[in-house]
Amino acid sequence: MELGVLVIKLQLVRNAGQRSKNYIMDLKNFCHKLPKIELHAHLNGSASPKTLRTLYKMQNLSKNNDINEYSCIIERHSSLEECFKMFSIAHSLTNNPEAIFIVTCNVIKEFMDDNVIYLELRSTPRAVEGKMTKEEYIEAMIRAIKNCKLSCPNIVVKLLISVDRKQGYEAASENIKLAMNYATKYPGDVVGIDLSGDPTKGSVFIELLKESRTAGLKIAAHCAEVPNEMESMDILNLKPERLGHCTCIHPNLGGTASLFEAFCQSRIPIELCLTSNVKCKTVPSYVDHHFKYFYEAGHPICIATDDKGVFDTSLSKEFEIASSVFGLQREDLIKICKSSIEYSFASNEEKQRLLSMLINFNSKEELISS
Ligand SMILES: [Zn+2]
Repeated sequence: MELGVLVIKLQLVRNAGQRSKNYIMDLKNFCHKLPKIELHAHLNGSASPKTLRTLYKMQNLSKNNDINEYSCIIERHSSLEECFKMFSIAHSLTNNPEAIFIVTCNVIKEFMDDNVIYLELRSTPRAVEGKMTKEEYIEAMIRAIKNCKLSCPNIVVKLLISVDRKQGYEAASENIKLAMNYATKYPGDVVGIDLSGDPTKGSVFIELLKESRTAGLKIAAHCAEVPNEMESMDILNLKPERLGHCTCIHPNLGGTASLFEAFCQSRIPIELCLTSNVKCKTVPSYVDHHFKYFYEAGHPICIATDDKGVFDTSLSKEFEIASSVFGLQREDLIKICKSSIEYSFASNEEKQRLLSMLINFNSKEELISS
């Protein structure tokens, strides 16, 4: 090959590389600026390593043998085992109302800095002997949400009280009663129930969940994280306002054709958490994620982080991944945000306000690109 031809070819390769680098940067910037809606975020798993370090320093852990292991894992956690250890670290560091208040404030601030304009945070209230009651746990979160109305004015935050299926009937009943009481006391802040926890343990407490509706609470239920056709249908028949994950519904991921059909017919919005599922290995890779089946079927979906701290992600990153893996265009991403507003548990007035923020963003973007 002549030298001149070689130089031209190298130049072309370099330009293509530059173009794709620019494309990635543009996509990254766009996803960051996009006013986003987060509908599936657990409090403890959303705590960032920075917040955990703060809590770690606040607590007198010098006598704790886990001290070195704690700090190592908080600094750098990549394996599945380390991710699960992050959950237990977050759990043990949030054992008093002050810690709950700090974590809630920091999580809200971090989502706001990522241009999330609406956040539904969910958490299982926990009693720690001599340190905290379940009521104090919930009140610390509400105090933080109220506090952030002043310090973080660009984000609307709601609370869902979680029922951990592993903890059994009595705890589920207690948490639902607490949620009903606090929804009456703080109607704009406590808006729903989340059903979550180890999908291989306990049950889904259908009757208790139905009861929570009498207090006007909405239901978001984790569903089909492991293959279980009968339970998936029980949850579907309850008609929760939203479903979480729905991993093992499609026949390619442990479900069946009739199950997938039933879910699609229900039109119940599904919260999809790409990185969480890939890192937990409930799906083999991003390309294999059930996002593609539900999205292609035109089923209502939203994109969510699940546990941004544990899985080292952000809602912007999840949008970037959805766009690059499934070929979503900017207008598709805006559409997902728009419909997520509709699926949220915000009031009609709040939905209108959120929608106008998104429309404003869209018209500014069109001006920039035209
Ligand atoms: Zn979850």
